[in-house]
Amino acid sequence: MLTINENYLKLPGSYLFSDIAKKVAAYQKAHPEREIIRLGIGDVTQPIAPAIVEALHRAVDEMGDAGTFRGYAPDLGYDFLREAIVENDYRAWGCAVEADEIFVSDGAKSDCGNIQEIFGPDCRIAVCDPVYPVYVDSNVMAGRAGTYDPATGKWSRVIYMPCTAENGFVPELPKERPDLIYLCVPNNPTGTALTRDQLAVWVNYANENGAVILYDAAYEAYITEQDVPHSIYEISGARTCAVEFRSFSKKAGFTGLRLGFTVVPRDLTCGGTALHGLWARRHGTKFNGAPYIVQRAGEAVYSAEGKRQVEAQVACYMENARVILQGLKEADCTVFGGVNSPYIWLKTPEGMTSWQFFDFLLENANVVGTPGSGFGPSGEGYFRLTAFGTAENTARAMERMRKVLGRPKSFS
Ligand code: PLP
Repeated sequence: MLTINENYLKLPGSYLFSDIAKKVAAYQKAHPEREIIRLGIGDVTQPIAPAIVEALHRAVDEMGDAGTFRGYAPDLGYDFLREAIVENDYRAWGCAVEADEIFVSDGAKSDCGNIQEIFGPDCRIAVCDPVYPVYVDSNVMAGRAGTYDPATGKWSRVIYMPCTAENGFVPELPKERPDLIYLCVPNNPTGTALTRDQLAVWVNYANENGAVILYDAAYEAYITEQDVPHSIYEISGARTCAVEFRSFSKKAGFTGLRLGFTVVPRDLTCGGTALHGLWARRHGTKFNGAPYIVQRAGEAVYSAEGKRQVEAQVACYMENARVILQGLKEADCTVFGGVNSPYIWLKTPEGMTSWQFFDFLLENANVVGTPGSGFGPSGEGYFRLTAFGTAENTARAMERMRKVLGRPKSFS
């Protein structure tokens, strides 16, 4: 008899961003004259940098010429890109990562969601709370999360590590022993980061307990503070316990082009089996390589011009983050993040839930953000704004928010 994967039926409700989209669409329909500023979804607004566009054009021309046409890409990635990644993202930071440990993909979301396939069905996962939803949902689909309790918003087999203002958004070592530990640094949604010393605690814990850290560094390009590591491999011992995910989406505006990579060190084993071989097998079976033209675009991100241009884009977003932080502080809000990340995490006003604050902002300031509770139970009472808007919209959103939230003050 034909059956379905019933784990999919366990997934509660619709996805956070579709709920937001529905509310915004309903509001816009009722008030077509109002202009809404969106600081909700984490998509970029700046176009692809010129040096990267040039590389794309060149690669497109190669594809139209019989002498330089390329068919299927190598499924683990072209050497030119893997070498550029290793040179710029690892050797330059003193990390021992080799080109054949880089698995090029179509983005970090697929990799973060798919990595769980190479682990056993009974593995216990630990996640920060609040959390990027993909880590939990992909484990629900695989039947690893247990049952969902709508009252608590938690899955019975998932180990939650609350990250709140009370613990400075630094997850504490869990009481129950996890097999897989998802860490996202700099963090989405809280915008906070871990220092080298704080991350070393996790690396030591994972090595001592035979656990694997699944380290999502999608926002690495936004790190500004010296003591925040750019890669988990800056920490001694990480090669035997950690997989790292990276993305070109927020670093270089590739949300529409699609490119990312995963690092699986050869030293990383699980019960005597090298995870490198398993991930290579999985990747080779289910993925046919990122497009040649996109990999050439990725290579151009590391050219001298490309680097300068994407760094300038990131700096623009971080200036938005500064404007948001300043605006919210002037409105007497309690704010976090925004220093090593394009996300600003604020406490909702006394007595307002995350969704109540969402409605309040939408209706009174016509500004859209993301309710913190959508990222997990410990996100209740918080709200996320992103710095990915245009400078103009960001400044206007802050003006509106200061008016409705606090005493209007001068705004620079
Ligand atoms: N990981 C985190 C923490 C993210 O916030 C996102 C995107 O918002 C991703 C991964 C997805 O990145 P990509 O666009 O490379 O799939």
